[in-house]
Amino acid sequence: MIFEIPRCPTCGELARGSIERLAGCAEFDWEEVPGQAVYSGYTDVWWDEQTMETNETGQAHLICSQGHEWYSDSDNAEDDEASAWPRQTYRFDV
Ligand SMILES: [Zn+2]
Repeated sequence: MIFEIPRCPTCGELARGSIERLAGCAEFDWEEVPGQAVYSGYTDVWWDEQTMETNETGQAHLICSQGHEWYSDSDNAEDDEASAWPRQTYRFDV
């Protein structure tokens, strides 16, 4: 991907990445408290539904390592090899 504003307007660092929206299943433990759902601490992230957050004009929402956020136009090349990173195979405990 190529961004019109790849560097943070506040501190000048290159973008750490884009802010993304994810969905998933926070799994329940039905055994800990009989008759009640308790979070097990395990979340199955549905990576196939991951999307880049954009504003109303379609600009990408970027963030630097200092936590500054900004929007930038991009070439939005979904099939670009640089953006084809593995998204599907991770599960993690929270
Ligand atoms: Zn910054």
